[in-house]
Amino acid sequence: MSKSYQQLFENNRKWATETNQQDPTILKKSAQGQSPQFLWIGCSDSRVPANQVTGTTPGDIFVHRNIANMVVHTDMSMLSVLDYAVNVLKVNHIIVCGHYGCGGVGAAMGNKSVGLIDNWLRHIKDVYRLHKDEVDAIGDATERSNRLIELNVQEQVMNLSKTSIVQMAWERNQPLEVHGMVYDIASGLLKDLDVMTDSTKGMDNFYALNLNQKG
Ligand code: ZN
Repeated sequence: MSKSYQQLFENNRKWATETNQQDPTILKKSAQGQSPQFLWIGCSDSRVPANQVTGTTPGDIFVHRNIANMVVHTDMSMLSVLDYAVNVLKVNHIIVCGHYGCGGVGAAMGNKSVGLIDNWLRHIKDVYRLHKDEVDAIGDATERSNRLIELNVQEQVMNLSKTSIVQMAWERNQPLEVHGMVYDIASGLLKDLDVMTDSTKGMDNFYALNLNQKG
């Protein structure tokens, strides 16, 4: 076993001991089951761990991560996580969390081919296309990329609202807010993007499903 891999187990033992010392109920309670209030859809980037940046403990956040925190309607993994979070765990909040300096968004803004991932990043190119005028008007390259990172989060919040899973929850008056935020890696701070939605109001009408329709 390599040293760096072994180190994980040493760290783990230390963490388990410290966690138990700080609060002996946390791990015991989480062994009984989970009832998180939050579903987190974040980037796979190693610098944006959901629990650490929100100061939460095991059991607090149900997590799905992929490159550039995307909500792609044919992604069975994301849909399964979303369905379980909304219909079984009954979370009250879904968070899409992007982060400044996102390599996925950066790659999507360029033309360099990086392999299979090009096909995943194409979804971000679609977001870019929708907001091209606003984004291209920004002179500074970092600011331009940061703005697309924010707009991408906003689009993914809307994509969540367009799913049958979220719309069915709203239809039966299940309290469910969808939020968008961005994490600043350099400062460690989260910024709410003020794009919260808890209904189909304001959505282009053709995305709103008529869930009472029979036959
Ligand atoms: Zn990222």
